Amino acid sequence: MAEREFDVVVVGGGPAGEVLAGRVAGGGLETVLVENHLIGGACSYYACMPSKALLRPAELLVEVGRVPGATEAVTGNLDVAAVLARRDEVVHDLDDERQVDWLEDRGITPVRGWGQLDGERTVRVGDDTLVARRAVVIATGSSPTIPPIEGLADVDPWDNRDATTAKQAPASLLVLGGGFAGVELAQAWRTLGSEVTIIEAMDRLLSPEEPFASEQVEAGLRELGVDVRTGAKASAVRAANGGVTVEIEGGEALTAEQLLVAVGRTPNTNDIGLESAGVEPGERGFLEVDDQLRVGGSEWLYAIGDVNGRVLLTHMNKYQARIAAEHILGKDVAATEDRHAIPRVVFTEPQVAAVGRTLADAKEDGINARAVDVSTAGTAGASFTGRNSPGTSRLVVDEDRRVLVGATFVGPETAEWVHAATIAVVGEVPLERLWHAVPSFPTRSEVWLYLLEEYGL
Ligand SMILES: Cc1cc2nc3c(=O)[nH]c(=O)nc-3n(C[C@H](O)[C@H](O)[C@H](O)COP(=O)(O)OP(=O)(O)OC[C@H]3O[C@@H](n4cnc5c(N)ncnc54)[C@H](O)[C@@H]3O)c2cc1C
Repeated sequence: MAEREFDVVVVGGGPAGEVLAGRVAGGGLETVLVENHLIGGACSYYACMPSKALLRPAELLVEVGRVPGATEAVTGNLDVAAVLARRDEVVHDLDDERQVDWLEDRGITPVRGWGQLDGERTVRVGDDTLVARRAVVIATGSSPTIPPIEGLADVDPWDNRDATTAKQAPASLLVLGGGFAGVELAQAWRTLGSEVTIIEAMDRLLSPEEPFASEQVEAGLRELGVDVRTGAKASAVRAANGGVTVEIEGGEALTAEQLLVAVGRTPNTNDIGLESAGVEPGERGFLEVDDQLRVGGSEWLYAIGDVNGRVLLTHMNKYQARIAAEHILGKDVAATEDRHAIPRVVFTEPQVAAVGRTLADAKEDGINARAVDVSTAGTAGASFTGRNSPGTSRLVVDEDRRVLVGATFVGPETAEWVHAATIAVVGEVPLERLWHAVPSFPTRSEVWLYLLEEYGL
């Protein structure tokens, strides 16, 4: 049994843990990172990266179909084996050697194993004890939630790991959950050859987003041949003829070769020794933190990323990691933008790229909000990209302060647009000033001009 001292002990090597470790080590602190599986976490191997690798080839084909001249040149179908091979390349065949090199290049000590708190400032990994002079950071992430639906656990459904690592498309796939992970994976496997049905209990897909985003994504999925069932509550699941049957409240039953469960995430807070530090998880098991990412105002215990439940997205996890790292390094910082300025992109066809509040969120927060909408395809730039494509763009304006509090762009390849809106929201740029930010001609960014004109500027 060995005891070693470090300045910072990080438990969990997903995007949150890695970024924090890199930053505190860069600030001169002796750092150890404990990881039980793959350094890089869910995002690199079983979530963000493989799902986009599965979606991108078909997205390109749709885009080529809108560009005369190029359309005629593409005559074949998607090469499924090549798409899956590229996906494997993107996830480095589930080998984290490069990530280990990244840590070691920064002087961070990687430790393989299950980390558990063992009292104040102490983490146990098997027989090893790691003592933190300055901070312990919990970055253990989250796991798929398996809802308590009768029979569900017995059929051993796919979760995001299975759905991002599968070696062939199932003939048919039921997707339980129409959030961003559900719709992306539904689209991916549909374009790779599966018959896909989405079962969503709410009355629309992507329910936290603007209603028009839900409608336009649903229409896009239907056009690809995905069967979308909204307002459909699964009541029971059972094995059937080598496949799975999901019973829907009201009597209908749907059967497919495979079932994917994508209904939310549960924080990884079990069996990590929280009780030894006197910590009790909060609502739904997430660790409650303050704006410095400290657990219960502790002087030494931090929780960043999915495990604190503030935002379950990699980029915001990495934002929290930077804030917590700076705080550990002694700076006076606070996470201010991981509640109302969260950018998010759904990589469907059309894409949804949004930041900040929807109109409904803004009104619920008591903001005197007004929305302006234009067609995403209404610019000269759209003649070349996204020609005849669906999509609405919206700005949500705080009328009292005359600043943006939200924006949503639905359309093909709008993902890269959202950062401009994030800058406007976070920077609280006055609309009168924003009007002087001139988009190039002929780019699709001229949608900003039309939105501001629609507003009356
Ligand atoms: C299908 C899907 C697609 C997604 N796509 C996107 C996207 O496009 N963009 C985006 O921003 N977000 C996306 N997300 C969300 C994103 O994957 C997560 O928000 C992100 O991975 C969370 O990072 P994290 O560092 O908090 O945790 P994780 O990535 O979950 O990493 C936690 C790590 O801790 C390790 N660990 C856990 N407990 C212990 C322990 N006791 N000891 C040692 N190690 C431990 C785990 O093995 C894991 O490697 C997606 C999620 C899903 C499911």
